[in-house]
Amino acid sequence: MNDGVFDVVVVGGGGSGLAVALTAADAGLRVALIEKNPKLGGTTALSIGSITAAGTALQRSAGIADSADAHFADFDLFPVPAGAVDNLLLRRLYVDHAADTLHWLMSLGIAFHGPSPEAPHTRPRMHNVLPHSGATIHCLANACRARGVDIRVATTARGLVEEAGRVAGVEVDSPRGRTLIRARKGVVLTTGDYSAGTGLLRELAGERYAAIGALNTTSTGDGHGLARSVGARVLNGHLVEGPQMRFAVPRGFNWVKQLPPTRFVARALRFAMAHLPRAALLPVIRMYLTAHLQPTTKLFDAGAILVNRRGERFTDERGSPAFDIPKQDEGHGYIVFDGAIGARFERWPGFISTAPGIAYAYLSDYRRYRRDIFREAASVAALARRLGVAEEALSRSIAAAPVAYARPPYYALGPLYSWIMTTDGGLAVSSRFEVLRSDGDPIPGLYAAGQAGQGGVLLPGHGQHLGWAFTSGRLCGRELARL
Ligand SMILES: Cc1cc2nc3c(=O)[nH]c(=O)nc-3n(C[C@H](O)[C@H](O)[C@H](O)COP(=O)(O)OP(=O)(O)OC[C@H]3O[C@@H](n4cnc5c(N)ncnc54)[C@H](O)[C@@H]3O)c2cc1C
Repeated sequence: MNDGVFDVVVVGGGGSGLAVALTAADAGLRVALIEKNPKLGGTTALSIGSITAAGTALQRSAGIADSADAHFADFDLFPVPAGAVDNLLLRRLYVDHAADTLHWLMSLGIAFHGPSPEAPHTRPRMHNVLPHSGATIHCLANACRARGVDIRVATTARGLVEEAGRVAGVEVDSPRGRTLIRARKGVVLTTGDYSAGTGLLRELAGERYAAIGALNTTSTGDGHGLARSVGARVLNGHLVEGPQMRFAVPRGFNWVKQLPPTRFVARALRFAMAHLPRAALLPVIRMYLTAHLQPTTKLFDAGAILVNRRGERFTDERGSPAFDIPKQDEGHGYIVFDGAIGARFERWPGFISTAPGIAYAYLSDYRRYRRDIFREAASVAALARRLGVAEEALSRSIAAAPVAYARPPYYALGPLYSWIMTTDGGLAVSSRFEVLRSDGDPIPGLYAAGQAGQGGVLLPGHGQHLGWAFTSGRLCGRELARL
């Protein structure tokens, strides 16, 4: 059944997809955007919301001189993963347009805090969205609706339709059944990554990644599969960010996440962050850290151990413990340490977790703000009771720790999970975001942006994935408008 004819059909309603849709609609194109989940957002809505960009108005008002060239050069300060290719043309596009992208987002009512420094960048250029990453989705979706973009959620792309040698539409499943949406100018894949795509992980990254869960369980790499079915190829398919050990988000109310992502709230927060003394803001900032906190591996360097649901030590904590956590009962573990180790994580530079550019969390912050995952006891026996594990097993594990645990209290942090955060394998694309075949020729009518269209560009620093998602989306929408 034919379900509409549009100039552009965007597949995926995260940051890059909404950016494509809005830019194309702004240029007068008829646009449909389909999203398989019941809500827009994708990984973009789960993210911290850092965007790295150089030459921004916020940098200028903070007196920071920066340029696209300096940003381009700073990419080379990051180590290059083994076997990776890099696409310097796409890096150039990103750094040249990232500031405009940030200003464009700000023009839609999205506010940012910063810029913050982030090593090894030579200048502070990380901008963090306020009050949370839902704001970008909220504002972009509102703007899309205002420009008449036909947004359809709970609608999954299942196949690409080729006619006369070009991609002419998408077969979709929705509550109305299977239908066909036609695209006169192009279909754009903005379907995110394949961190939860077991088959793609197994094939491109290796078996051991296929056994790990993803933080976003719906990032199944659908766009990669759709494009490969018509001859596209994936670059840097083996690059996986993770598995990373993270604490789950606390159950129940998180007031920061509940803040409406409106212009007023963002401005009020920005004002508070600019004018209130940092000490007065610390409780706010630390509560911000109720995201999926990542504990530093320095805890293990100091002698902390990992135990499972039974209190047994199950891994070499300084090896690759993140691969072993999913194999334990209920797929999680606990970090255990004594008072001597704990004392080293009470003040700078001994933080346990950080949200880049926002804040650091120490042991006392966990005690105060994360009671759901924090346990403290005067003896090993009492800690075992609090964890619900056999005292004998926990004592044995502690006796085998790399350092002697002689000083009470005893601590446990957890449950601690292990997730793949993201994958960096993207479809090969041209600098006009056309999806390319193995021979390098474009597949007529098929485009990709965001993580699906990462095109072999390495994004090694914080804030570069979102920077790429919004920038590539915007530029891709502009290219479609030129056709
Ligand atoms: C916890 C976490 C924090 C992060 N924080 C940051 C950060 O602060 N800064 C940064 O730069 N990066 C961050 N990242 C990475 C960043 O969020 C992503 O790279 C970025 O959001 C990807 O945007 P995207 O538009 O490509 O994909 P997504 O935002 O994932 O959007 C893809 C959309 O496509 C939809 N979709 C998929 N398949 C189909 C289909 N068949 N049919 C219809 N729809 C489909 C999905 O449901 C999804 O909504 C973070 C990642 C994680 C996991």
